[in-house]
Amino acid sequence: LTAADPVLDHRICVCVRKRPLNKKELGRKEIDVVTVPSKNIVMVSEPKSKVDMTKYLENQNFRFDYSFDETCTNEMVYWYTARPLVECIFEGGMATCFAYGQTGSGKTHTMGGDFTMGKAQDTRKGIYALAAQDVFHLLQKPTYRHHNLDVYASFFEIYSGKVFDLLNKKCRLRVLEDGRQQVQVVGLQERRVTSIEEVLQLISDGTRCRTSGVTSANQHSSRSHAVFQLILRRSGPRQLLHGKFSLIDLAGNERGADTTSADRQTRVEGSEINKSLLALKECIRAMSQNKQHLPFRASKLTQVLRDSFIGERSRTCMIATISPGITSCEHSLNTLRYADRVKDF
Ligand code: ADP
Ligand code: MG
Repeated sequence: LTAADPVLDHRICVCVRKRPLNKKELGRKEIDVVTVPSKNIVMVSEPKSKVDMTKYLENQNFRFDYSFDETCTNEMVYWYTARPLVECIFEGGMATCFAYGQTGSGKTHTMGGDFTMGKAQDTRKGIYALAAQDVFHLLQKPTYRHHNLDVYASFFEIYSGKVFDLLNKKCRLRVLEDGRQQVQVVGLQERRVTSIEEVLQLISDGTRCRTSGVTSANQHSSRSHAVFQLILRRSGPRQLLHGKFSLIDLAGNERGADTTSADRQTRVEGSEINKSLLALKECIRAMSQNKQHLPFRASKLTQVLRDSFIGERSRTCMIATISPGITSCEHSLNTLRYADRVKDF
């Protein structure tokens, strides 16, 4: 990647990020089957075998707006993906940024960053924090200073089709749609924030809340979507909405396939995840084709994000995260095919 300016003009940006092999994978000498030959292309070498059982690798190429290899930092990924969307919300737009991929492929690392639990200061910033940092930065710019904007943050999760407030003790929230198709998450906490430190604290508290009382943090987060929102409102009694940025750490996409499990709960969760990821793809595609009708009611996820998919100034970015190991090959190909279908036409 060069330092050239990211693409600022199109409404839908689809990228892929490859993480490095981790210690475990290196320990068992796992083969890295993913390469990023140029800043747009990602190549997967899929293991195959011929009729006579000889094994070979078949190369498959995918083209995206950007492909990030394992040397790219969160800051670099942020620069090309979410940063243009921060400007968009200052212009009064609605923006969404999704991390999509298999559990363990780097969604939370990319979006939430890596935490030393309980110590917000020690966060290695992810896109939530980097976006918030730029929001405060842009607020000071002469162009936007006179807009008199206040910044608010909310943080919730969607688990098995139900919404829970991560800034309010995982309180269950209801989603209502009024006669004008306006969707409201009733009672969702919106905290006014005035500094990056406050935002880091909220991310840290919300993340801790998300995994409190669950036996396995990663099991739980692989089954739920986490939605972090940065909201701009005009100062004043009516607090009119100016722009909103929703940043989403999606449930692990392999969970969507959990529809044949023996365990009923797992099956229900799997089909719910499957439904929401399909609806998400369809909503983004409809958005890119400027369609009037969006199938947003098909899932809770797309329903609560409805106002972000409609309107002239809506923009979205998908970051597909992939694990490089040969044992993840099939999942990685599924992720790339999904991302490929989301792309602008
Ligand atoms: P997911 O949220 O998709 O399940 P995580 O973000 O939790 O995956 O990533 C799994 C592990 O891999 C974590 O320990 C994380 O720190 C590490 N990891 C993920 N992406 C990267 C990356 N780009 N560079 C270094 N480590 C990474
Ligand atoms: Mg995660």
